[in-house]
Amino acid sequence: MNKKGLLFVISGPAGTGKGTVVKHLLETGEFFFSVSATTRAPRDGEVHAINYYFITKEEFEKRIAAGEMLEYAQYVGNYYGTPKSAVEEALDAGKNVILEIETQGALQIRKIMPEAILILILAPDIETLEARLVGRGTESADIVAKRMAEARREVTLIDKYDYVVINEDGKSEEAAKDILGIAKAEKMRASRNTELKEKFI
Ligand code: 5GP
Repeated sequence: MNKKGLLFVISGPAGTGKGTVVKHLLETGEFFFSVSATTRAPRDGEVHAINYYFITKEEFEKRIAAGEMLEYAQYVGNYYGTPKSAVEEALDAGKNVILEIETQGALQIRKIMPEAILILILAPDIETLEARLVGRGTESADIVAKRMAEARREVTLIDKYDYVVINEDGKSEEAAKDILGIAKAEKMRASRNTELKEKFI
């Protein structure tokens, strides 16, 4: 039987650059990325079923009612959620899975899958965060303000996470390396390797 994969939950307020960090992690080929569903409109260049499953509010609510979401949350006026079956299949196949989700969803995962590894990515400080968010230019001033308010709230949840990784300006590859280090250590955690006992008896 395959050993189950590890579930990495990566959160970070808007503007931390977590998308770039996750991109580096996926380039290693060591992780399965869970594509979320959302009711928000696609940004320029975003592709259905690659970046998100872009669905309507009605469809999203139907999927919640059908129990198809592993977790979901409302964030700045839209639904975001993790389709359950893809994640379960990947974990059962022994793949290490990344969920890139906000904090409410991460805390739901903590409850239902306590073995998940929760990582919070932060910018070095709030000014850098805001500069990145404004500089991205993908959102209106109103949405930027709402995302900044969310960012402040999300940072207060730091102690609910297992690890914090700071994404310094221009150093997203180093942040990704930090996460690879976490993944390596987590694989070696004694409690995840108890089957080794049998080899020595
Ligand atoms: P964005 O609109 O910038 O793509 O994402 C907004 C926030 O929603 C980010 O913090 C992102 O991590 C989070 N998010 C993306 N997918 C999911 C999901 O499936 N569940 C939850 N709870 N949050 C998600």
